[in-house]
Amino acid sequence: MSLWSRETYIPKTNRLDSDLSVDVAVIGAGIAGLLTAYELAQKGFDVVVIEKEGICAGETVGTTAKITYQHGLIYQKLSEADAENYYHANKMAVERFFEIAEELGVECGLRRVPSYIYSREEDEKIKAEALAAKKIGIDCEICKHTELPFEVKIALKFNDTACFQPLEFLKAVAERLTIFTDTEAVSVDEKGVITEFGRVNAKHIVVATHYPFINAPGYYFLRLYQSRSYLLALENVPGLNGMYLDVGKGGHTFRPYKDMIIFGGQSHTTGDRESAEGCYEKLAQFAQEIFPGCRVVERWSAQDCMTPDGVPFIGRYSKDTPNLWVATGFNKWGMTGSMVAAMILSDKISGKNVPFAETFSPTRPKAAKAASVTALSLKAAAHLLKQGLYIPSSEINDVEKGEGRIVNIEGEKLGVYRDEAGNFYFVSPKCTHLGCQLEWNQSDKSWDCPCHGSRFDIYGKVLSNPAKADLTAGSNTE
Ligand SMILES: Cc1cc2nc3c(=O)[nH]c(=O)nc-3n(C[C@H](O)[C@H](O)[C@H](O)COP(=O)(O)OP(=O)(O)OC[C@H]3O[C@@H](n4cnc5c(N)ncnc54)[C@H](O)[C@@H]3O)c2cc1C
Repeated sequence: MSLWSRETYIPKTNRLDSDLSVDVAVIGAGIAGLLTAYELAQKGFDVVVIEKEGICAGETVGTTAKITYQHGLIYQKLSEADAENYYHANKMAVERFFEIAEELGVECGLRRVPSYIYSREEDEKIKAEALAAKKIGIDCEICKHTELPFEVKIALKFNDTACFQPLEFLKAVAERLTIFTDTEAVSVDEKGVITEFGRVNAKHIVVATHYPFINAPGYYFLRLYQSRSYLLALENVPGLNGMYLDVGKGGHTFRPYKDMIIFGGQSHTTGDRESAEGCYEKLAQFAQEIFPGCRVVERWSAQDCMTPDGVPFIGRYSKDTPNLWVATGFNKWGMTGSMVAAMILSDKISGKNVPFAETFSPTRPKAAKAASVTALSLKAAAHLLKQGLYIPSSEINDVEKGEGRIVNIEGEKLGVYRDEAGNFYFVSPKCTHLGCQLEWNQSDKSWDCPCHGSRFDIYGKVLSNPAKADLTAGSNTE
């Protein structure tokens, strides 16, 4: 459970129970859907949000909740024009959090905290980032020392960034909206959204389902992969005044919250079985080294959709869908990313020209840049092929207590997890999204898809999209 969900309960609303007609239907009640619906409602649109589970039941609950326009090494990777657009959009997004918090009168711990990237190994990339940032007018400074309890080679500080308690903020946003929970969008057509319980006719539809759930058009499954990271809330630690991200090998992240530090890292592509082992333990060990005597009070993990060029996909779902919109691929920067989506989509739907929108457009030329797309497609294809080629040799009884793995039984592959009491839980290890073979994640005790990041629990229930259907599953406890 994340620290946020331990502190804040957001109740479900009602299921859709009849057809209705609105201006805009937003699918997904994570931060992207909620903020987009809020901005549309502020502009006078009649909006509803359709959510298959509960409010913030997806990945948003697992965020670190830094609100920043410092996103790793993004500025040096973009052209000067795109870097400027990216900066202005995300800077406006930071400020918009403060405006909305004031509009709603919500206490959500929103406060200004500087943000830093640092490296313990080399300084070239950070120097290049400083150069790219300064060129477009970002107020930033190179530092040789930080308050972190270890030496850094170099750090880069951005001012006017912030952090908050995301669920307190989003609970207040959700209270202003019409949301149907436990209502899954099954498909869309030109006239609206089809759910299990009725139609929502809408002039515009926004897909904010984290991983876009419509495979074609758009073909986002060829352009996105998912990356998972792990977080610990640490007590008995010194106070921090800044938020930090290691852009070197360690990849650690730090942010202050109350008298705690939220500390994370161990990122890996979802479904990478080896990297998923011992993630919490490795983090806890490093935490003890740098903050001796610290206590882990909560631990959790989450994943996000990653794009080839590091810029989210915000805009028309595809060239041929004038009234279907999407917000995805936040590259682990979905707080400001979602606010940028809310600003762009609400303005576009209002018919306004948005100066920086082209940089984020899903149909931008760079989004289809051959090299990156091919690499991702090949990765997906390789995993699809692997289903037919991978023949594990282990038998069920070789599976240790607390372990999961794929076993081969009379030519059939079976995902087997054995709990500490010795009970077996079986799943068909074929992702219900596009059929890739699942991999076992020992840290989270879940079955993860290396192609597109869907995840399932030991009972075969979907934990993370794009998969919608549960796995065929069974257990010797039934
Ligand atoms: C470990 C970690 C730390 C992070 N830290 C930061 C940070 O410090 N700062 C930052 O800016 N970003 C951060 N991010 C990124 C950020 O948390 C995400 O980008 C963001 O939460 C994604 O929000 P979302 O609304 O797109 O997705 P979600 O929160 O997953 O919301 C999607 C919703 O859609 C619903 N849904 C899916 N399919 C359907 C359907 N068919 N019908 C109806 N509903 C559907 C789901 O149930 C879900 O509620 C972090 C990410 C990770 C993984």
